[in-house]
Amino acid sequence: MPEIYSPQAMLEKLVAFDTVSHKSNLELIAFVEAYLASHGVEAHRVYNADKTKASLHAFIGPQTDGGVVLSAHTDVVPVEGQTWCSDPFRLCEKGGKLFGRGSADMKGFAGTVLASVPDFLSADLRKPIHIALSYDEEVGCLGAPDMIADMLRVGPLPQLAIVGEPSGMKTVTGHKGIIVLKTRVKGFPVHSSQLDRGVSAISIAARLITWLDSKTLENRSRALPGCLFDPPYSTLHCGVISGGCAHNITAEYCDFTTDIRTLPEETGEDWVALYRQFIDTAVLPDMRRISVMCDIELEEIANVPALKPEMDGPAEHLVRSLTGDNTENHVVFATEGGQFQNAGISTVVCGPGSIDQAHQADEYVEVSQIQDCAHFLKKLTQRLSD
Ligand SMILES: [Zn+2]
Repeated sequence: MPEIYSPQAMLEKLVAFDTVSHKSNLELIAFVEAYLASHGVEAHRVYNADKTKASLHAFIGPQTDGGVVLSAHTDVVPVEGQTWCSDPFRLCEKGGKLFGRGSADMKGFAGTVLASVPDFLSADLRKPIHIALSYDEEVGCLGAPDMIADMLRVGPLPQLAIVGEPSGMKTVTGHKGIIVLKTRVKGFPVHSSQLDRGVSAISIAARLITWLDSKTLENRSRALPGCLFDPPYSTLHCGVISGGCAHNITAEYCDFTTDIRTLPEETGEDWVALYRQFIDTAVLPDMRRISVMCDIELEEIANVPALKPEMDGPAEHLVRSLTGDNTENHVVFATEGGQFQNAGISTVVCGPGSIDQAHQADEYVEVSQIQDCAHFLKKLTQRLSD
């Protein structure tokens, strides 16, 4: 028997799966797979390396190119350390709001899309609707690239993608890219009374972080007026640092983590190359003069490409024509949108709820936003059936 859910009931189901990024999402995936199968829709899993998580993709409609991807991530951020008024993993309705972890980011969109499957199936679609559910978005958009590659391998080629991150159902056409970078400094430990015979990894880290900060300040000073990003320049920021073992020993190790958020016209890779050049020419030679054991290693932890605003992009055109929203929207958070775009698929972000509630205690999505999203999907279905 085909299973039928309202968008809210489907959201309730999805929220009940504790899919915090570091946990397995396979129970949720199995549920969605069974639900789709009850409607005769075949879905494809794409596992991570140790098979503890999977993405799922499927399409409904004719096996022709030119369809629309509806994309959501299944993972959510942790609730540890947050004080919730209700169980984060049980959807709770109060005053027109649906509270639960992931209700806004972004099981609200996923739930509304899945609940609309019977509509997609009963329409006479001329172009397919693809459903794409990823994992590990919240820890650096790690799951989407393999999923997208598999979609393109097994199914027809979609023309455009709608990433349903919470945007208040507004059309978001751009966001910055992010590279998360770990810097590992290996110094040379000596007693601090003999400072000039050692290399303090902490002092070196301080030099590097000062350089990173100076680049942010330079970028700020030459920001172009009219840029829609806030702040309107690329930023380089160290958020975590650890090192040293005693006040009287020059630190042998210091590690720190930086995020580099770039405007779409720049790339994180270019910034990393510039940083590496600074290290190799201005920092490492001084260290190696003291000891050849000294080193500075860089490790890329995550790399999320920017979503580039497209000139006359088909995704923007379609979504604006369905929502009637013509406001210009760029956002500060990153999404899987740039990954779809880099695969040749025109992409915008548009989904229910607000990013202000995402990742917070008492995360919620308004019932009216879910209704707007369901209405949007009905119009999309009609448009693809014309
Ligand atoms: Zn999200």
